[in-house]
Amino acid sequence: MNSNEFREWSLRAAEWGADYRSTLRERPVRPLVEPGEISRSIDVSPPEHGETMQAIFADFERKILPGMTHWQHPRFFAYFPANAAPVSVLAEYLVSVMAAQCMLWQTSPAATELETRVVDWMRQALRLPEGFSGVMQDSASSATLAAVLTMRERALDWQGNKKGLQGQPILRVYSSDQVHTSIDRAIWVAGVGEDNLVRIPVAGRFRAMDVAALEAAIVADRQAGMLPAGIIACVGGTSTGGTDDIAEVAAVARRHGLYLHVDAAWAGSAMICPEYRHFWAGVEQADSIVFNPHKWLGAQFDCSMQFIRRPDDLVRTLAIKPDYLKTHGRDGIINYSEWSVPLGRRFRALKLWFLLRAHGLENLRTMIRNHVAWSEGLAERLAKEPDFEIVSEPMLSLFSFRHLVAGTESNQHNLRLVNAINDDGRIYLTQTRVDGQVAIRFQVGQFETTAADVDTAFMVITEIARRLA
Ligand SMILES: *Cc1c(COP(=O)(O)O)cnc(C)c1O
Repeated sequence: MNSNEFREWSLRAAEWGADYRSTLRERPVRPLVEPGEISRSIDVSPPEHGETMQAIFADFERKILPGMTHWQHPRFFAYFPANAAPVSVLAEYLVSVMAAQCMLWQTSPAATELETRVVDWMRQALRLPEGFSGVMQDSASSATLAAVLTMRERALDWQGNKKGLQGQPILRVYSSDQVHTSIDRAIWVAGVGEDNLVRIPVAGRFRAMDVAALEAAIVADRQAGMLPAGIIACVGGTSTGGTDDIAEVAAVARRHGLYLHVDAAWAGSAMICPEYRHFWAGVEQADSIVFNPHKWLGAQFDCSMQFIRRPDDLVRTLAIKPDYLKTHGRDGIINYSEWSVPLGRRFRALKLWFLLRAHGLENLRTMIRNHVAWSEGLAERLAKEPDFEIVSEPMLSLFSFRHLVAGTESNQHNLRLVNAINDDGRIYLTQTRVDGQVAIRFQVGQFETTAADVDTAFMVITEIARRLA
C-alpha cells in the first residue's frame, strides 16, 4: 500500500466508522449466525497473490460485519460495557500509525511521561492519596497477575523467581467466592495452585467476605505451617456486583502483614463520583488496586490501570534488570516494562488523555450517574410486575432478575427467556447463577445509551417473557 492509497483508505475507514456508529440502533445487537458460518465463508488457504483493497474491504463488509456482536450498541446490556468513545478511537488510530514500542523511557519518552501524568490524573479523579503510583496494563487480568506475583515474592522473601516454588512452604491467598475468574488464573499461573486460593464465605446484600472467617482462615493456615501471602478483595464482582468491606479486609491484612490487592475492574470507574466512594471505603490502605478505564469510563480496549503503593515491590518482582533501584524513579526515568509481565507495550495513555480532555470528568460523572439511575429505575419497574423477581438488588448499574411462571422449572424457563431475548436482537443480556439458580443480569454502561433505550429494554423483556410463558 503506497502513501496515497493509505490516505485514501484511511479516509474511507473514517467514513465507514462514522456511519457504523450512527446506525448501530438499527442493527441487532447480537448477530444471528450459526457456529462455523463465518469460517465457511473465508478461503481455506492464504492467497498467493496480493488482492485489491477494494476486494478486501468488500469482504469485510459482506462476510465479517454480519458476524459481529456490536459492543458499542446503545442497547448492549450484557456482561459489562467495553466502551470505545469516538475520541479514544481517534487516539488509537494515531497510536496505530506511529506504532511505537513503549517499554522503556527512551523507546518513547512521551509515552512514558504521558502515562505517568494520566495515571496521576486518574488517581486524583478517584481521590486516592498522593502516595500511590501506577501503571497502565493491558487488562485487569494482567494487573492481578502482577499483584499475585508480587505477593508471592514478598512472602518468599524474593526467592521465588530465583529458586522456584519447590521446597518452599505452601503459599495461601484469600478471596471471596464472588471474584472474577481472572483471579483463579493469576493463582494458577503464579504457581500458587488453585487449592491454595482460600474462598472465604460471603454475607449480606453486597456479598462481602466474612472478615471473621478470613482472619480465622489465616490463623489456622499459619498454625498448619503454611505461608499466607495476600488477600484479593473485590468491589463490583462479575456475577452480581459482590463487594467486600475494604476497610475491614485491610485491617486484617495489616494485622497479619499480608499484601492486599483490590479488583474494581468494572466498578472503579464509578469512583470518580464522590457519592459512590463509600463502596470502596478503606481502599487507600490497599497495596494494589486495578480498574479498567476500558470498561465504563470509555477508553478503547486495552486500557487497564493499576495503582500501587510501593512500586519497588512490583519492580523487584518483574524487572529483568537486577539494578532495579537505579532505574525506578531515579533521574525522573521510569521504564514501565519493569512494571508488567510483557516486555512490549502499546502507547495506551494517549486515548485516555484524549478522552479525559474531550469529555471532562463532569460529563463522565453525569453519564455514570444516569446509568445507575436508569438501572435502578428498571429494577423498580420489574419489581412491581407480579411475575418478575429481583434476584440481586442494584450494585451501581448492575442487578439481576428472573421471570416467574407457576408450574415451570425456573432455570430452564429463564435460560430460554434470555436466549429468546437475544435472538430477538433489540437488546442483549447475559445470565448468571445466584446461589445455584439461573438469574438474568442487567447492566447499563454503554456510552450512547439513553433513558429511551432502557424503556425499550423493559418492553422487550416483559413482552418476550409473557409470550414464552
Ligand atoms: C472485567 C473484569 C475483570 C477482567 O478484566 P480484563 O481487563 O478483561 O482482564 C476482572 N475483574 C472484574 C471484577 C471484572 O469486571
